[in-house]
Amino acid sequence: MIQLSKILCPTDYSRTSDKAVRYAIELGRKVDAHVRFLHIMQPENIAEKTAYSYGVTKKAANHEAFSDEFRQLMMEEKKKGLSADIMILRGNPYNSIIEQAHSWGADLVIMGSHGRTGLTRLLMGSVAEAVFHALDIPVLLVKQEAVEKATMDVF
Ligand code: ATP
Ligand code: MN
Repeated sequence: MIQLSKILCPTDYSRTSDKAVRYAIELGRKVDAHVRFLHIMQPENIAEKTAYSYGVTKKAANHEAFSDEFRQLMMEEKKKGLSADIMILRGNPYNSIIEQAHSWGADLVIMGSHGRTGLTRLLMGSVAEAVFHALDIPVLLVKQEAVEKATMDVF
């Protein structure tokens, strides 16, 4: 039988990954899986860099790295029965996502086809490509436009 109890949803807070977050929430609830939202901090983010250079603890940094809106959304979804947690790691995005998928034992990854920095004319961004390539579990790549079509009636 297919195991589907742990869904990993990496997000870079881009519009496309927000769409993937919606899919992860809906699917997680439907199949009663636990969803882990994961953000990888990169040094080029000045705010994050500053936070670390001032010696902010990992816990405090965790608090800062997911927006209030995201936390609010999570609280509401949890009230509605979603099982979820959020995690911040520091490092190279695709290595960290791949490592976390392995160490946590994720059954499925749901992420955006694109993110903050890439060109939409490319099939997918470099993080999406590396994760899809490296993992042997299914990776669901959510496209920006596809979701807009699919969710029109729902939202
Ligand atoms: P590129 O980074 O190659 O310039 P891009 O930014 O358009 O292109 P990706 O970075 O591959 O595309 O983003 C695809 C998906 O990967 C995002 O929607 C998000 O789900 C995930 N992702 C990207 N960066 C991060 C990150 N720092 N932390 C967590 N998830 C990420
Ligand atoms: Mn990117």
